[in-house]
Amino acid sequence: MATLFTRIINGEIPAEIVYQDEHCVAFKDINPQAPVHILIVTRQEIPGLADLPEDGDHKFLLNAAKKIAEQMGLAGGYRLVINQGLDAGQTVDHLHVHLLGGRPMNWPPG
Ligand code: 5GP
Repeated sequence: MATLFTRIINGEIPAEIVYQDEHCVAFKDINPQAPVHILIVTRQEIPGLADLPEDGDHKFLLNAAKKIAEQMGLAGGYRLVINQGLDAGQTVDHLHVHLLGGRPMNWPPG
């Protein structure tokens, strides 16, 4: 069965798409944690960092994040997050990077 994010990529579930290329699709998070909160998702269904294949769409996530951050005007900085597994709070088992920006952020994260 297709993941939630594949269904968004396929247009079965609506989302505000802000970027796409042959490897990744990016759209606004439904529950934003910052003024800018974008999910950058691999087209390939990779469950998470623990299941990375040798080669694949994940290799293009950082380049996509940089382009989207520029597109969003985040010259002051931004944060990229990948939640892996239960302890990190991963809820969707389809590899994605959170791009957060538009406000100052604390470190370490809570
Ligand atoms: P995770 O917790 O797996 O790192 O991140 C999953 C993210 O997907 C969460 O931030 C959550 O708000 C977002 N999300 C869950 N369902 C939907 C949806 O239907 N549409 C969109 N745009 N985001 C979603």
